[in-house]
Amino acid sequence: MSSETIVIDGSQGEGGGQVLRTSLALSAVTGVPLRITNIRSRRRQPGLMRQHLAAVRAVSEVCGATVRGDEVRSLELEFTPGPITHGDRSFKVGTAGSATLVCQTVLWPLLATPGRSVISFEGGTHNPMAPPFEFLQRVFLPHMRRLGLDIAATLEQAGFYPAGGGRFVVELEGGYPPAPVELHGRGEILSCEALAFVANLPNHIAHRELAVVQRDLNWSPEQCHAIELDGRGPGNALCLIVKAEAGAEVATGFGEKGLLAELVAERACAQLQAWLDADVPVGEHLADQLLIPMALAAAADGQASSFVSTTPTLHARTNAQVIARFLPVEFEFEPIDERRGWVRARPR
Ligand code: AMP
Repeated sequence: MSSETIVIDGSQGEGGGQVLRTSLALSAVTGVPLRITNIRSRRRQPGLMRQHLAAVRAVSEVCGATVRGDEVRSLELEFTPGPITHGDRSFKVGTAGSATLVCQTVLWPLLATPGRSVISFEGGTHNPMAPPFEFLQRVFLPHMRRLGLDIAATLEQAGFYPAGGGRFVVELEGGYPPAPVELHGRGEILSCEALAFVANLPNHIAHRELAVVQRDLNWSPEQCHAIELDGRGPGNALCLIVKAEAGAEVATGFGEKGLLAELVAERACAQLQAWLDADVPVGEHLADQLLIPMALAAAADGQASSFVSTTPTLHARTNAQVIARFLPVEFEFEPIDERRGWVRARPR
């Protein structure tokens, strides 16, 4: 590998898949080779799982990379990127692993380079510990469009863990750096909606979850929708969607065998309530996902960005550390009180 190779310790901070995905995306964007060691070593099953391998393969196809160590369970990877190319592609996770996370990796090299791509992603669309499709479509992508990025996604088939089989299509036009992020206040709440999805499971699960939403959040029956999906299952997810002037938030509860539907809903309601009480524009998941565009804005145009969010997580702090290894950016985290904080990025 070249002498300018960036070596990333995959066990740093959160030590999960995001260290890998951010490194891959930014290696492809900057053209700088990457070696990553101790991949996901803070996870119960460390190393590359199918979902991470799918991200490696997707990014390497997009930038014609040479790769060593791209095997299931591998703890170390060498990745030498080449030129980024656009086009119509299809990426399959091959299991129920999260396809939305594969999408959030490969979109950065594609958005950084002029050209149009239509990409279909197959795998899990509603996985615990990953953005469900509704989060991608209603929170993340609208924020990206506000930053001037041209990207949209359509769900064709939901895929729940462990059956998988989900599919969505992303269309994007690359070549424009993102505008700086400025999200300082949430503004008025414009609408609230609860979607309780069930696939190959009894409908009463959705109705019991929605009863908890009406009780805990005081939402009306008109704001609550039970949706039966076909396709592979079983699966259940409850998405609580709040649209505010500065953007939306989606809090999600994922059904699990042996977990009461009421408990799934209570946890999702508590998550959403924490965001509502904090009175911030950015929730904990969006916070870590906004850091790459902030860094790209700083690198391309020397523009500073900032937002106020719920207290930044270890995911966000770790992502900031990894990003700063690839791009000339400095992140700053400043607490406001016990539940909120500032996140700032400036060119370095
Ligand atoms: P990792 O655990 O390192 O693989 O990273 C998981 C990513 O998925 C992070 O960007 C999280 O913020 C994001 N994520 C996890 N759960 C959710 C959720 N319920 N909604 C939105 N994003 C999520």
